[in-house]
Amino acid sequence: MILMNDFKAEPAELRERMVTAVRRVFDSGWYILGKELSNFEAEWARQCGTAHALGVGNGMDAIEIALRGLGIGPGDEVITTSMTAFASVLAIVRAGATPVLADIDAETALLSAASVERCITPRTKALLLVHLYGQVRDMDAWVALCSQRNIHLVEDCAQAHLASWGGRSAGGFGSAAAFSFYPTKNLGAIGDGGMLVTNDQALAVRAAQLRNYGQSVRYHHPVIGLNSRLDEIQAAILGERLAYLPAFTARRREIAVQYRASIRNPLLTQLAPAQEDAAHVHHLYVLQCTQRDDLIAHLARSGVQSLVHYPVPVHAQESCPDIARDPAGLPNTEHHAATCLSIPCHPQMAEADVEAVANALNAFSPS
Ligand SMILES: *Cc1c(COP(=O)(O)O)cnc(C)c1O
Repeated sequence: MILMNDFKAEPAELRERMVTAVRRVFDSGWYILGKELSNFEAEWARQCGTAHALGVGNGMDAIEIALRGLGIGPGDEVITTSMTAFASVLAIVRAGATPVLADIDAETALLSAASVERCITPRTKALLLVHLYGQVRDMDAWVALCSQRNIHLVEDCAQAHLASWGGRSAGGFGSAAAFSFYPTKNLGAIGDGGMLVTNDQALAVRAAQLRNYGQSVRYHHPVIGLNSRLDEIQAAILGERLAYLPAFTARRREIAVQYRASIRNPLLTQLAPAQEDAAHVHHLYVLQCTQRDDLIAHLARSGVQSLVHYPVPVHAQESCPDIARDPAGLPNTEHHAATCLSIPCHPQMAEADVEAVANALNAFSPS
């Protein structure tokens, strides 16, 4: 079976480096908020070109802490996409703010600027821009829109590690950005992890308090915070994995180039190509097909795993019946949710695997 992710196939040398790193943490006798974290934070800030990076428990908490740190909460609206991991929207709710869902652009599955404009009200405080599937796009337009409307730009970079646009890294375009190190992300821990990055010194100070019970100095709690820290073991492991990330990202890009050139079944629709090479890190390679269930079954019979990101958009979730949305509706989101399919695209795939997936796709005809 060609899997969506294959961690067991990672280089033995990487595994050895991670085991050595874990041993180093054991030997240090220091497990929370120590040197491993501050080293990894400094390294990640450098990667993102931001002044500050704060390790937190997961990507969802990174978004919540960013919003709360920016003073966004009850009575405030945050616009985002309905075509995202549920955690993006849950983080807005957890911050006490009101999510408002805008539609996507049919060709990219990324937020539509026209729809975002329709969602803006006097209560809008931020746009949570999700770099879906690993793609950063049109950042000059997003930055301009947010500054004209006087709202914060917060980037959800959970799928966009090392993506860049116009020579600038994802994570540095707005007031703050959130990364997830969930195992399947392009940079994944051996467990949960996340990071908030920002150039805003005051936000960095507030976020450092919020992740640690709202504590300023030991046993003093000026704000109500949460317990959300990236522990020393995960930070040490992530530091080792980061050394492999550029090569792993390059491999994802090669696979994407090969798919784009070799998939030519008229029943399958490709998303629009990235605006530049560095703008896409191909966290997921996504196609569209109106006979998706047949295609999934055909791929499984051909030894190819596939997944849907995402079959149920946020506004269609049972827990969110009345969630606010674009008054014009979310037709592109609904069409995408009904047709999108993610095929294997991970750094451990061999040349033959990529060919086998493309061949299986090209051999598909509906039953
Ligand atoms: C994974 C993901 C998150 C949540 O990250 P966790 O670390 O699982 O909390 C948020 N947004 C997007 C777009 C994601 O893909």
